[in-house]
Formats: sequence, structure tokens, C-alpha cells
Amino acid sequence: SSDLPQTTEDILAADAHLVQSWADLNALKQTGARTAIVSAKGVMVRDSDGNELLDGIGGLWCVNVGHGRQEIIDAISKQLSTLDFYSTFYTFTHPTAAALAKKLAQLAPGDLNRVHFSNSGSVANDGAVRILHHYYERLGRPSKKLVLSRHGAYHGSTYLSIAMTTPPYSKGWSRAEGIVRHLRKPHFWREGGDMTEAEFLDALIDDMRTEIETVGAENIACFIQEPIMGAGGVIVPPKGYHRRAQDLCRQYDIKFVADEVVTAFGRLGHFFASEAVFDTRPDIINIAKGVTSGYQPLAATIMTDEIHDVISGPDGVFTHGMTYAGHPAGAAAGLANIALMETEKLPERVRHTGPIFENTLRALGDLDIVGEARGSHFMMGIEFVKDKAKKTLFDAGLNIGMRVARKAQDKGLVARPLGHILILSPPLTLTEEQIARIGGILCESITEVM
Ligand code: PLP
Repeated sequence: SSDLPQTTEDILAADAHLVQSWADLNALKQTGARTAIVSAKGVMVRDSDGNELLDGIGGLWCVNVGHGRQEIIDAISKQLSTLDFYSTFYTFTHPTAAALAKKLAQLAPGDLNRVHFSNSGSVANDGAVRILHHYYERLGRPSKKLVLSRHGAYHGSTYLSIAMTTPPYSKGWSRAEGIVRHLRKPHFWREGGDMTEAEFLDALIDDMRTEIETVGAENIACFIQEPIMGAGGVIVPPKGYHRRAQDLCRQYDIKFVADEVVTAFGRLGHFFASEAVFDTRPDIINIAKGVTSGYQPLAATIMTDEIHDVISGPDGVFTHGMTYAGHPAGAAAGLANIALMETEKLPERVRHTGPIFENTLRALGDLDIVGEARGSHFMMGIEFVKDKAKKTLFDAGLNIGMRVARKAQDKGLVARPLGHILILSPPLTLTEEQIARIGGILCESITEVM
């Protein structure tokens, strides 16, 4: 609209009132936001200075089908003209949320057939723990409250989900820390020391067993894990880790929860990665981001029939839910997005183009300051090091990730710096030519800061 600020200067003046998330607010106070994105189409975004940039981070690992897809926009618009809002509280429902719940139950593995909607991944993760606490209360086992998570995890920013995230982030911010135990980060390259990968895997599982026995399985509700750690640096655990962790959970009667906020909806070549890629059958899978490709905020906690049977038993109300759970516009976006992915066979396509993207980025591992280029399919991270052999990091003040990201942006690519790591999580619609372009820009950018 013409009422909106148009020039970069006007946008930044208005932006002084906007509190950015996960940002150095002090630095922003001096300079304002660095980039204002004003429009987007396909895999490209345009900034307020008119620069066209390749969206190497898919919004925030979420715009899986690419920007500006008319099918989704039309579905949202049609939905809003028919039913703008009604809730899924009490005895109410509406056809769009019901249809999306049914569709998700069909796509999710096994008996993961019951869907509780929310609005963000943080809330879906938070909700999973609340639901399990409620579940164990109903089973007469109220001591089962602790959550096993891992160093390096990112599960969100509510009080509970930040507590399940990497410990320093919640220090002094969350009173929920007391219910979370952090296990070792499953990152062989950084944490493996002199061990072989198989020995490291054994050590991870031993560590988990020791923690369970130390605190007592009767006190533990669940183990929550991202199949591939995202914001913790794109960490793929050793092969076989997921199944062994799940087996341990089953042995000790601890629920196995998958945070598939990033890994679901095609990023690894399947609608859900837990079973298809990692050979697991979680008791709960949490999703957000790619379910609507970011066109509307929508998340879900998908639980097994067994959990649902317990929480829907007689005596008492399920005292949990958010006003916008299953919002009509979000549900319409989810249905249209999934339909598009199915029509275009996007997950299948990712099984072909994902490895090309992966190999293009892995090749950067040959550069002197790249310690490890890692990840899988369209979920990749590049870790920079000062000394390749010793794996020592650059001085934090050097902001190495940010320096490479700035170079890349000047050359037409948005990448996401996270300290000494650069993250790439583009739309899944990238062509091979665009993949090669991303590889070229990154290679030049890294070489120039060396
Ligand atoms: N879980 C994972 C794995 C994530 O990457 C994120 C966000 O990046 C979240 C949860 C939190 O989701 P949201 O930001 O939608 O609350």
C-alpha cells in the first residue's frame, strides 16, 4: 500500500519501533535493520534498494515451495472470504482445520493420527511436554516430568522450549530449566576426539543410559530431538543413533518426541523424516514452518492414538490450547501447500536435487577456512575455522559468519550467519543452475574473507 514506508530510509525510521528477534539489539539501535525485504517471487527476494537476492535461507527454513505461489494465496483468500475465523475450542471445529488434521494423520507415520494445532514450533514443542505431563498424571504416574534434550538443540523461545534448547540461551531467562537434562551433542567431527564414529555412537547411547539411570526413568517424561539439529549448527548424528536412542526410550518407558519443525515437509526428501530417513516411529512429532511453507503461521503436535486415548479418557478437561489453533487461513494454507507439494512431487524432486545441493556445499570443505561443510539435502551448514587441523575457531569478535554472509549478500545471495557457522536452507524448488550459482557465490565470498 502507498501508506507503507517506501524508501529504505523511511522503513528504517519506522523500524526503530520494531524489536527484532534473536538480534544484537544494541547494534541495531545504532544502525537499524540492515536489510528490508519488500517483495518475493520464486526463490528470489527483493530488498528496499531494489537488489534481487537468491533466498538461500527460505525465509527462515520455511518457504519450502518458494515465494508467491498463487495456489496458496488464492486458497487463503478464498478461505478468508468464506470463514475468516472460528476457533477449535470446546465443541467447535471447522472444515478446513478438520481436513488438514486428517491429511496430516495420513502423511504421518503409523498411528500418529491425532493432531493438536498451534501457531509456532516453540508452542508445538511446549505443548508436547504439557500433553505428556497431563498423560502421565492421568496414568497415575505424576513423577514423570523431566525432559531429556541435548546440548546444541534448538526447540524454540517460550519459557519451556528455550529451556530445552542449548543451555546458555535460557540462563537467567527461564525457570523451566529445572525440568530439562541436556545430553551430549551428537556431533562426531567436533566432539568425537580420538574415537571412531561407531565408538562415539556407543558413547552417546551410554551417556543417555547413564543419565536415565541416574535421574530415574520414573521421573522422565520424554526425550526430545531434532532428527538433524538445525540452529545448533546443522548437526547430523552418527548413522543408527536415532534408532538406538528410540530403543532406549522404549526400554525405559520414556516417550520419544521428534521436533520436525525443519526436517518435515520435503527438506530431506520426505513429508516426514523420522521414519523415512531415520528409521524411527516417534510417539509425538512436532511440525511448523514447511507445513504452510510460511504463508501463514501454523504448527502442530501430532500424537499417537495411544496418547490421545489416555488424554481423552473420562474425568476432566484437556486444559490446553491457543485461540488461533487451526486458524482457518493457516489450515487453508497448509492444505494448499501440501497439495502443491504432492502435485509437483516436491519430496521426490528433493531426493534428486538435494544431494546435488549437498555435494555442491560439501565441496567448499576444501577451502582453507572451512572446517566442516555438513548437513543433508536442503539443510546445510558451513563451519569456519582458523586452523583446519586443530579445528580452532576464529576470534568471536571477528564475526566470521557475518563477514561471509555480507559478502554473499553483496553478490546476490542471502545466507544466515550463526557465529562461526553459515546456514543454508533454501526453497526446495531450486534448479540445478541456481544451486551452482549458490555454490559459486559462497566459494567467492569465503575466498575473499580468507
Ligand atoms: N524447533 C526447531 C527445530 C526450529 O528450528 C525452530 C525454529 O527455528 C523451532 C522449533 C521454533 O519454531 P518457531 O520459531 O516457529 O516457534
